Amino acid sequence: MSELVAFIGVGNMGNPMALNLVKEGKKVKVFDVSKNMIQKAKEKKLDVVENLDDLITNEVTTVITMLPEGKNSKEVYLGEKGIINKVSKNCLLIDCSTIDIQTSIEIGKKAKEKGIKMIDAPVSGGVMGAQKATLNIMVGGTKEAFELALPLLKIMGKNIFHAGEIGSGNGAKICNNMSLGITMIAASESLMLAKRLNIDIKKVHEIMKNASGNSWPISVYPPLPGLIDGTPSNNNYRPGFSAGMMNKDLKLANECAKQVKASTPLGSMALEIYNKFCEEGNDTKDFSAISKVVGGDAWNYPID
Ligand code: NAD
Repeated sequence: MSELVAFIGVGNMGNPMALNLVKEGKKVKVFDVSKNMIQKAKEKKLDVVENLDDLITNEVTTVITMLPEGKNSKEVYLGEKGIINKVSKNCLLIDCSTIDIQTSIEIGKKAKEKGIKMIDAPVSGGVMGAQKATLNIMVGGTKEAFELALPLLKIMGKNIFHAGEIGSGNGAKICNNMSLGITMIAASESLMLAKRLNIDIKKVHEIMKNASGNSWPISVYPPLPGLIDGTPSNNNYRPGFSAGMMNKDLKLANECAKQVKASTPLGSMALEIYNKFCEEGNDTKDFSAISKVVGGDAWNYPID
């Protein structure tokens, strides 16, 4: 049977991911509930199907979903029109959305009951990583399902990891992003302190990059402008990866920490800081804009 990918959710991430599959010669049909996103997909010459019923046919060999939250994945896979009841048994299901572990496990379990292979495969690397096909993809599921998915995942990403059973992909992603949220605040605090100490910020940045205070936000994605070209801090904090997305991931981290009784005091503090920042209307700003609210009032806050 020839390969046909049904791609559901062509937003900021899904659109370039689907496009990369097409560029590699894959037959891809896409669907989204948003008229705006459908329009954008059409502009990119993606093959758009106007409703889910027409998308999920017996010919579909793989379904890829890239949706905002667990409730969306649940609706698409298990809801009233749930695709789990429509796809053929040989169809592989790949949920690339970042969602809670429990929902991933629940959908995976229902798929397994029907004899359908499924993986959770959340990604990191942002919209730029999706466009350049350099995403890190963290997979949960059986080894067999992982290997089946690899050829498609390798088209969309650069580093593909098998983390463990279904749900582990999201588990790994949540742990990674909790650390990222915390280190972004830490980098912001250090650089803002340097600013208040009147030390040349470029020198402090260079020192930290080479010393033990280094981190991804310092070396790749500094939260203050003028340090590395092409970062959101140099572009009025246009995302990138939004504060709202980071807030969502920190919520997921704190929820699962509670469930397994893990003590994550910095994780909860990071959530408190991002939550307040989003409530103040900054959820669409890049998450590195958090530097605007730590270290004192050296900046003109709110952000324009
Ligand atoms: P987005 O909101 O731009 O895209 C999601 C799309 O899903 C939207 O176009 C929406 O209309 C569509 N959708 C929602 N419910 C649907 C349904 N029932 N049927 C069909 N389509 C539906 O979000 P995004 O930035 O593309 O992020 C998608 C996922 O990737 C999220 O889970 C996010 O956490 C994760 N992620 C995002 C980034 C990033 O930088 N944006 C980075 C890594 C991971």
